Amino acid sequence: PKFVYDFTEGNRHLKDLLGGKGANLAEMTNLGLPVPPGFTITTEACKTYLESGKEPAALRDEVSAHLDALEATMGKKLGQADDPLLVSVRSGAKFSMPGMMDTVLNIGLSDASVAGLAAQAGDERFAWDSYRRLIQMFGKTVLGVDGELFEEALESAKKAKKAATDVDLDAADLKKLVKSYKKLVEREAGRPFPQDPREQMDLAIHAVFDSWNTERAKLYRRQERIPHDLGTAVNVCSMVFGNLGPDSGTGVAFTRDPASGHQGVYGDYLQNAQGEDVVAGIRNTVPLADLESIDKPSYDALMRIMETLENHYRDLCDIEFTIERGKLWMLQTRVGKRTAAAAFRIATQLVDQGLITEAEALQRVNGNQLAQLMFPRFDEKSSAEAVARGIAASPGAAVGKAVFDSYTAVKWSRSGEKVILIRRETNPDDLDGMIAAEGILTSRGGKTSHAAVVARGMGKTCVCGAEELEVDTKRRRLTTSAGTVVEEGDLVSIDGSTGRVYLGEVPVVPSPVVEYFEGRMHAGADEADELVAAVHRIMAYADRTRRLRVRANADNAADALRARRFGAQGIGLCRTEHMFLGERRTLVESLILADTDKEREEALAELLPLQKQDFIELFEAMDGLPVTVRLLDPPLHEFLPDITELSVRVALAESRRDANENDLRLLQAVHRLHEQNPMLGLRGVRLGLVIPGLFTMQVRAIAEAAAHRRENSGDPRAEIMIPLVGTVQELELVREEAEEVIAAIESEPGTDLGISLGTMIELPRAALTAGQIAEAAQFFSFGTNDLTQTVWGFSRDDVEASFFTAYLEKGIFGVSPFETIDRDGVGRLVADAARAGRATRPDLKLGVCGEHGGDPESVHFFHEVGLDYVSCSPFRIPVARLEAARAAA
Ligand code: ADP
Ligand code: MG
Ligand code: MG
Repeated sequence: PKFVYDFTEGNRHLKDLLGGKGANLAEMTNLGLPVPPGFTITTEACKTYLESGKEPAALRDEVSAHLDALEATMGKKLGQADDPLLVSVRSGAKFSMPGMMDTVLNIGLSDASVAGLAAQAGDERFAWDSYRRLIQMFGKTVLGVDGELFEEALESAKKAKKAATDVDLDAADLKKLVKSYKKLVEREAGRPFPQDPREQMDLAIHAVFDSWNTERAKLYRRQERIPHDLGTAVNVCSMVFGNLGPDSGTGVAFTRDPASGHQGVYGDYLQNAQGEDVVAGIRNTVPLADLESIDKPSYDALMRIMETLENHYRDLCDIEFTIERGKLWMLQTRVGKRTAAAAFRIATQLVDQGLITEAEALQRVNGNQLAQLMFPRFDEKSSAEAVARGIAASPGAAVGKAVFDSYTAVKWSRSGEKVILIRRETNPDDLDGMIAAEGILTSRGGKTSHAAVVARGMGKTCVCGAEELEVDTKRRRLTTSAGTVVEEGDLVSIDGSTGRVYLGEVPVVPSPVVEYFEGRMHAGADEADELVAAVHRIMAYADRTRRLRVRANADNAADALRARRFGAQGIGLCRTEHMFLGERRTLVESLILADTDKEREEALAELLPLQKQDFIELFEAMDGLPVTVRLLDPPLHEFLPDITELSVRVALAESRRDANENDLRLLQAVHRLHEQNPMLGLRGVRLGLVIPGLFTMQVRAIAEAAAHRRENSGDPRAEIMIPLVGTVQELELVREEAEEVIAAIESEPGTDLGISLGTMIELPRAALTAGQIAEAAQFFSFGTNDLTQTVWGFSRDDVEASFFTAYLEKGIFGVSPFETIDRDGVGRLVADAARAGRATRPDLKLGVCGEHGGDPESVHFFHEVGLDYVSCSPFRIPVARLEAARAAA
């Protein structure tokens, strides 16, 4: 194979082979834009090098041939003493990756050629500045010398000269600096700085290859699920110089505002500077707009190029450029990152410009961005200034009193206070406090730290790793980098979407996007409206495009109505246990305590009208749309008092000799129902089979409610769902009874209720025998929460807090299988069961309920395996609508 491509040979579709940077440099070259000539060594060469420990045999000659061609084009040789060709060696994988080697500029300079460079440029200072930069970058990234040591040497040179910035050092100062840099390299690296230009280049190329396997790069790939065998490309690019004086400089630019999407001139420029100086913040940059007055021709050229790039890439691009003595050079471009709001606006703007289609617009946004836009946020008009910035670990805006331990968090929140739990880092002991808090703030740890993982699982706002904050849990206080002290009880505000931390209470405003979905958004011309208009249009494209239907998990009429406003096309999961709580608990207690059939029937008879009323309201709210009602699922002990509390109460009463009969019976029942593994115990269909009359009462309530709605010219579409079935026999038994009840109600004239009966598939055995189960079920709803628990053998309530952090850090999985469906394991069961079910019953309706129904990646999976709908919590419905469309587009 060919291992080296000239920039004129590649194009942007060759990212696998040339990496992102190389592919785009080639694309720009072929567009006729001013890119300094160069060539790219392929990822294939890197792969061979990493696998075999040496370069592919042909590489050296190919590099030589391309270098010769480059030298011919440039009319000078690499490192040539009187007029040196200099190059940069730049890493560039398919995905940009932290942990990869930094770029080395000015390769080719040496003791022999530095004078030649000075003579050619007519600028001695420039030549020595370039040389000291080379030794510094090369020493650090190729030879592994601690970068701080170079910084210290530079600082002391500045101090000796009383220079404010590096520009104030003259040629003589820089010459001295080069001398001390070289000494430093020899001491620290155990070898002198290489004077042979080709050796410099080859060493740099190998260093790029090797950097593919640094620990940081490997960890990043595991977490982002980037394959380890892609390898990185290496770009060798002839140098252009932004450090040749005030008519030179370097800058970065965006073709439109990455924050708002507005078209205009966005970027930064730095005169007399090279490469990284702009982002390194060593001197103050000027806004890109100022370039117009500094160098009008270059500015105009840049504007034209930006337009060319936007029209060509049909998207926002970011750009690195350099001006060398009034001549503009392009050094990098790529489709740029943007905020969630900008993504929506840019997508619709580009449709309006005729640059992209609606289907493409759907690929330019995603569900996570939409979800971000739906969180309440801090009022932008507030003047609050952030005192620290950490990692945006779990979005939302939270305000509360600072507490520094879990115990206080729980105590204060019980008495009605809102609290923010602040810790250096959290561990499983902090769980109660995290649940009690409005938000969580830590000063250590990254996106996979315990705090981050658990908070995301709970949907709780979290900022982690705010390292500028000094958290002292013993003295219950934190200190900001500016020295401000926050004591326990002081108000703090944290923004989990930006990672910002504020002192005091920052006012929170609802998201305009939610206001829009709720139908409360009023017209007016401001930023929020532009965003809402864009979201509105994208959602319209989405609804036209998707095949999957989207339903809501909702247990009452209020949630159902909200879900409908958010676009729900039915209810996929109504959990009836929520109808058994509150005051009705005592009725459930008497049901559980019933000694005789008569007592039990009485208790059920009292529950019946209450349930019926719930269903009437639900069917009314969802009139004309399907409502899947799940019969009682959780273990009964959940309806009884806590075993310890009750034991203490009874013991105390007994010691006073006034134990109450009911409490004694309750205690017996609690003991009788106590299970080691309630999740795997008496629950779901098993309850229906051992407690006579329970499921039939629920079925009756549903059927009577439907009949009632019919009588009132409603259009109820009830679907009865039996949970936790493991074998078709269980389902058949429940089904027979249910059909009898329904038939009795339908026997009255004019009442065909059209109720369907189906089951959840949430046990591996159910999935494995789905073909049989489909004989007794009109629909399946995959309960992927329980299915994940039972397939992995993970107890969700326990593992997220105990060892998931370690698993995520070790890269065993990139994201919790409770967040995103595990395609290979759990997903395979879903796919197989769907196929087997449909083989038995071609019109079997298939859906999914549970957290995964609103998770973007999982929605794509459910689309692929041919489900009919996903069901998720009301707030996730827009996300699911959008992702279902992206999966179909
Ligand atoms: P990164 O991916 O970190 O941006 P780059 O390879 O793009 O690394 O290079 C780092 C900096 O050096 C950038 O500012 C880039 O524009 C600049 N640079 C790279 N190659 C050259 C070159 N041949 N001439 C001038 N500047 C360059
Ligand atoms: Mg760059
Ligand atoms: Mg379940």
